[in-house]
Amino acid sequence: MIKDKLKKLKDDKIFKLPPVSDGPCEAELILNGKKVINLSSNNYLGFANHPELIKSAKEALDKYGVGAGAVRTIIGNMTIHEELDKKIAEFKKEEAALTFQSGYMANLGVIQAVVERGDLIISDELNHASIIDGVRLSRADKAIYKHSDMEDLERILKEKRKEYNNVLIITDGVFSMDGDLANLKEIVRLAKKYKAYTYVDDAHGSGVLGKNGRGTVDHFGLNGQVDFVMGTLSKAIGVVGGYIACSKEARDYLLNRGRPQLFSTTIMPSAAAAIIKAFELLESSDEYTNKLWDNANYFKKVLKDRGFDLGNSQTPITPLIVKDEALAIEFSKKLLDNGVFTSAIVFPTVPLNTARLRLMPTALHTKEQLDKAANIIYNVAKEMKII
Ligand SMILES: *Cc1c(COP(=O)(O)O)cnc(C)c1O
Repeated sequence: MIKDKLKKLKDDKIFKLPPVSDGPCEAELILNGKKVINLSSNNYLGFANHPELIKSAKEALDKYGVGAGAVRTIIGNMTIHEELDKKIAEFKKEEAALTFQSGYMANLGVIQAVVERGDLIISDELNHASIIDGVRLSRADKAIYKHSDMEDLERILKEKRKEYNNVLIITDGVFSMDGDLANLKEIVRLAKKYKAYTYVDDAHGSGVLGKNGRGTVDHFGLNGQVDFVMGTLSKAIGVVGGYIACSKEARDYLLNRGRPQLFSTTIMPSAAAAIIKAFELLESSDEYTNKLWDNANYFKKVLKDRGFDLGNSQTPITPLIVKDEALAIEFSKKLLDNGVFTSAIVFPTVPLNTARLRLMPTALHTKEQLDKAANIIYNVAKEMKII
């Protein structure tokens, strides 16, 4: 059974094993024993190896130990977990928040808990895999609208709204493979008009967009107007975990019916402590987000000036469009040989013939590292006749 499946992956040339990184996630890494410039992490702000987060985690290790001891709803609910939920709600300017073990778990747990048979989920066609899986686990019907196409969304609402009890519109805030933003103002307007609920996955917006990195909802000034604001604690925040920011009522309900809360142990208390510190750093200064945007704008300009197609990104996510699947994989391999680690993103993660390298400049990179990486990318692309 597995043998044939594995063979097919290899025959299709999409089988791969992850490289091994020996040390913390930094702008430069030792990867498979060799020093490379890292353009593949989601460690936007450099928090994954930040001394203040490490210090907070160590203090919490001494106070709480390594494990929470049980699921949250039994005895795994420590003061530090309650404190974290409050911190997230405050930072996101929402009424309440509830932490999950990961962003993936948050989407799985919340979506299936809040809709049921007789409800409809309307989802953007480019939404993240964890949303797709959450939708699959729910008993609601689903409809897909064309990417960010508000006319298509309204068409579905018009046609189907009256057939269903509740309707939930779900979108990524920042689309993870393209870096473009959802048209949240219009989505919220349509939701009000058709009495639908809204759900935004802000995995790539939190710590990046909005005041001091408060996220896409804050960027559009819609605080308190989106019913479910989901985020991850593993990307810009640099640690691990996910959350939903929502009404207090929704939080109380999800603590009882969000299945990952009932059947999976909560995050390490030391992780919770590190995350709280990350939010405190963001609240106290915009130096991290400013550095991120400064580096991202610089890197994108350098690549654009060299003639690369960077798609429609409005955020630090920098897709370098190659189109051909095999060429993108080969390009990424050659770059690694030359000391730059990039991720090749191919079908089915993105539509066929839109293969790309997904480049992630962070607040950690120096301009020299970005220049060096851009030079290597340009030279390899020339040699391969990509440009
Ligand atoms: C990464 C990601 C997730 C999952 O977050 P984890 O905390 O890594 O599980 C969910 N949604 C989107 C859009 C993501 O990019």
